[in-house]
Parts: sequence; structure tokens; C-alpha cells
Amino acid sequence: MKLAIASGKGGTGKTTVAVSLALSLAAANAASAPLFLDCDVEEPNAALFLRPEFTARRDVGLPIPVVDMARCTACGRCAEVCEYHAITVIGKQVLVFPELCHGCGSCMRQCPEGAIHETLNLMGTLEKGIARAGAGEVEFFQGILNVGEAMAVPVIHQLKGWAIPPDADGRPVILDAPPGASCPVVETMRGADAVLLVTEPTPFGLHDLRVAVQVACDELGLPVAVVVNRDGVGDDGVDAYCAAENLPILLRIPLERVIAEGIARGESLIAIRPEYQTRLVELWESIMELL
Ligand code: SF4
Ligand code: SF4
Repeated sequence: MKLAIASGKGGTGKTTVAVSLALSLAAANAASAPLFLDCDVEEPNAALFLRPEFTARRDVGLPIPVVDMARCTACGRCAEVCEYHAITVIGKQVLVFPELCHGCGSCMRQCPEGAIHETLNLMGTLEKGIARAGAGEVEFFQGILNVGEAMAVPVIHQLKGWAIPPDADGRPVILDAPPGASCPVVETMRGADAVLLVTEPTPFGLHDLRVAVQVACDELGLPVAVVVNRDGVGDDGVDAYCAAENLPILLRIPLERVIAEGIARGESLIAIRPEYQTRLVELWESIMELL
């Protein structure tokens, strides 16, 4: 099962849940190492908790067009076919805007003079490693977007392509999504079997939960379950909403100083509170049953 773990905003404890879920599954079944993908490529931080030993690294980017002006006749065909306005012809000049280019290759294929070739525009890095979890291990992957680079989606897309083998069906796959509900979150959720949304029981938490449910359920048609973090603060708005929308709340993590302090030190939830290991394995099983 591929499970995307997301939240409508940052700071809700999404990575705390994702990391401890991966560690719990690894410890419970050493024969089947979960795959963990940190898809928050703008600010990946799961490695701080999982502490993987890195074993491989690769650059990622998109192929962008380069125009040979000696062959170009300034016919304008490349600009016509580009859906993203990433290439334009002004007089006898052809201008390429790499930050708008999606690397689709249409301009190169459509150029009647064969005047376009491609070069790789580096956007970030992918890393792979192994994190220990008792007798088991977690296969860890993360994407890191270059500073100043605007497009996270291609990096997430390539991270998933690298990390998830076609025969991964039998293994747990955990995708730690970026915060929010924009394109990088959609890209992370795409292809998942279910989505686990981590929220907190406050009016802000409820607002962001609604937005995330809209993306996961309404746009992508995925089943959704909920974890309430910092349970005990705020009000019962999240509970009422989940009941009305038939969204199962599978775990509640109370607001406790000892948990907050442990996480601030870089400890996982199950290192601070070992009883959550069983609860998280049960959560995984509940989601499998939902499917
Ligand atoms: S399609 Fe080819 S020949 Fe025409 S303007 Fe673009 S690069 Fe030049
Ligand atoms: S590769 Fe695609 S997106 Fe980039 S300039 Fe060419 S047509 Fe536009």
C-alpha cells in the first residue's frame, strides 16, 4: 500500500507521524522494509529523525531547449506549440525562459529546421539511504530542491520514479508530503492508495483539514483517514467535521510537554512513547481494511 501523509499546513506533526509509522512497520516486520519518501523537497527534514546512512545520490532536472541560431529561420513554430510560454520569437531572436519550461520537448520535435537540442537544467538532488529500526530497516529517499528553484513538482515526480519500483505493491510505501494543498502536494498524493491527514483540533486546523480533504477526496478521489495531533487543545470542530464527512480518526496524540521536548531533540514519537509503535501498526492495518 502507498500511503501519502499530508496536512493542510506545516507544523501539525505530519513528519512526526510519518517517521514513526515507518519505524513501527519496520520493527514489526523486519522481512519487509518500508519505503519512506520525503517529498517535502523545499524543506526535507525527515532525515533528522530517521538518521539514514546515505548510499546513493543523483542530480535531477528537466531538459530545456537550446536553439542553434545558425539553423533557425525564426519561423515561430516553437513558440506556437509551447503551452507554457517558455519560448518566444522576437524578430530574429528566439528566447528561452528555463524557469517556465516543463521539459516537454514539443518545441524540439516541432522545429522544422532541427535547430533545437536539449540540455539538462539541474533543479535538485535525490538521495537514498538506509535507516535502522530495531531488527528491521527503512529504505529512505529524499529530494532536495536547489535554492531559488521554483518548480518542486518535477523533483517529486523523479523522486517517486526512482524510489518506488513497479513491484513495490507488497511493501509499505510512505510518502511524506509537503505542507499545504498546492501542486507539490497533489504530485505527492498522485498514485497513492490512500491519504492520512494530520491535523490539530483548532479552527485553523479545521480550515486546513477541509482544504486538504478537498484535494485528496474531491480532486484525486482517494480514501482519507485522519490523525488528530495535540489532542486536548482547541475545540471539537475537527471531530464534528470528520463525523459529518465520514472520515475515520484513527489516532489521537495528546498535547504533552514530554512529546514536544523529545521531538525538539530530534527523537521519534515511538522513542519518546514506545506504546505508539503498536498503535501505529494498528493504524496501518485499519487503513488497509478501509481499502
Ligand atoms: S521552430 Fe525552430 S526554426 Fe522555428 S523559430 Fe523555433 S527554433 Fe527557429
Ligand atoms: S520543452 Fe516544452 S515547455 Fe519547454 S520550451 Fe519547449 S515546448 Fe515549451
